[in-house]
Amino acid sequence: MHELAIVWFRKDLRLADNPALAYALDHARTLLPVVIESPEKVGGDSVGQHAAASSWRTASLASLDSDLRSRGAELAKLAGDPNDPAPLLAGLAVESGATLLAANRVWDPASLASEHAVTEALRTAGVEVYVGESAYLSPPGDLTTAEGKPYRVFTPFFRAWEQTVLPEKPFPAPERIVLPEKLPRSAESAVAASATASAPRLSRSGDGHWHPGEKGAQKRLANFIATRLESYDELRDRPDMHATSELSPHLAAGEITPRQVADAVTSSEVGQDAARPYLRQLAWREFAAHVLHAYPDLATRPLRPEFEAMPWDDDAEGLKRWQAGETGYPLVDAGMRQLAQTGWMHNRVRLVAASLLTKHLLIPWQQGEEHFRRILVDYDLAQNAFNWQWVAGSGADAAPYFRIFNPTLQAQRFDPSGAYIRRWVPELQRVPSRWIAEPWRMPPAEAEAAAVRIATDYPEPIVDHKEARERALAAYAAIKS
Ligand SMILES: Cc1cc2nc3c(=O)[nH]c(=O)nc-3n(C[C@H](O)[C@H](O)[C@H](O)COP(=O)(O)OP(=O)(O)OC[C@H]3O[C@@H](n4cnc5c(N)ncnc54)[C@H](O)[C@@H]3O)c2cc1C
Repeated sequence: MHELAIVWFRKDLRLADNPALAYALDHARTLLPVVIESPEKVGGDSVGQHAAASSWRTASLASLDSDLRSRGAELAKLAGDPNDPAPLLAGLAVESGATLLAANRVWDPASLASEHAVTEALRTAGVEVYVGESAYLSPPGDLTTAEGKPYRVFTPFFRAWEQTVLPEKPFPAPERIVLPEKLPRSAESAVAASATASAPRLSRSGDGHWHPGEKGAQKRLANFIATRLESYDELRDRPDMHATSELSPHLAAGEITPRQVADAVTSSEVGQDAARPYLRQLAWREFAAHVLHAYPDLATRPLRPEFEAMPWDDDAEGLKRWQAGETGYPLVDAGMRQLAQTGWMHNRVRLVAASLLTKHLLIPWQQGEEHFRRILVDYDLAQNAFNWQWVAGSGADAAPYFRIFNPTLQAQRFDPSGAYIRRWVPELQRVPSRWIAEPWRMPPAEAEAAAVRIATDYPEPIVDHKEARERALAAYAAIKS
């Protein structure tokens, strides 16, 4: 039994179903829960490239601290470089006399490198290091094809995944956590800083829609199961209906585990048949992580090398209009504005918006990936890079390049009354349903009645669909040959 263990929280901002915390509680008498944040963030500010996800994390850390306090502990926010945590943690172990460090694995390449450095530094100093696994039901790399290669096609991956990962039961949060009698000096000052951290700013995240933290995640899961799981398969592609779980930001911050989610949906009253389509989506999340693990530069380089030669168009103006939700394609504009205002966008609309950028505008997918990275509250390196490459046609199991979404037909099919578009594009509020997906075709009398002047109040389409489609196909034909 150790006298003191450091529990290093990473992307596992919860107390329940937390293997590192459970291990430390079983193997040490007292615990020192810590998190490493860049110095600016300890003051409560969000910084860096992923500003929305970073704001989310600030709020989530406040929630974790409060949950820890209700169990007798508190969270020390150590100011340091989250990408170089080894010196800080090794110093803390020496200063506090801790002989165990417990943490859960984070699977992106930089985080794995940090884990490696921490493990080496602490083991050299005689500290036991425990690394738990809870981010995925199937840890990346565990599932391979019969030839031992990484899967690049989803369906066989899903078959294998389903057969191997039926979830064990998650375990509950501890009731009590004992802090050491005297905190080491560096943790003491960090705790003080965390107590005074200013309120999180999720200003872009909508009117109280999001509740970062473990309680918020559990509530959202319970509400989804009670009201939407049964109709999930039928309605999940409908951005005009509140039909999906919206658990992605909670999963990204590790406020809830996929094991908790899978266990709750499979043991719910709706039965296995209704749960399966939902599990299938969770499996996409796992597939993306497997692909990143096999191809660590997934966020920057195309998985299919011929795409290196794609004649992309460096269209700064097009990128700006796309980012602002002013492409003249209402479904895309609604999505981009939903993203800007709430930090989240419905999956179907992400697909259409990403397709417009990479195929209609031929703008490199990396520029879209970067924009999403900055403002998604659910930003996750594996999910974002994998999906961008999937849409662009350069990734694993990507849709054939010639299948280019028609943004008008997509709107008519998945937002048939235009309710989603009207919600996010107020200029089109009064446009009749018949024209809402293609307002530029509206006869002048109807446009006048709808009080919208196309090209003045709302833009004309940024490109003609047919012409853009032909240009994209020609570009693709060039790289294929
Ligand atoms: C261009 C693009 C970028 C994306 N970037 C991200 C990202 O940075 N972070 C992120 O979490 N998701 C990303 N996604 C995937 C997907 O859009 C979101 O996970 C989903 O919209 C989240 O909403 P939800 O929780 O209501 O999903 P639900 O429909 O309720 O699905 C449940 C869970 O399954 C997983 N899931 C669902 N669809 C996908 C998918 N296509 N790929 C991977 N996992 C999926 C998510 O974890 C999700 O929370 C991206 C998709 C596209 C097309």
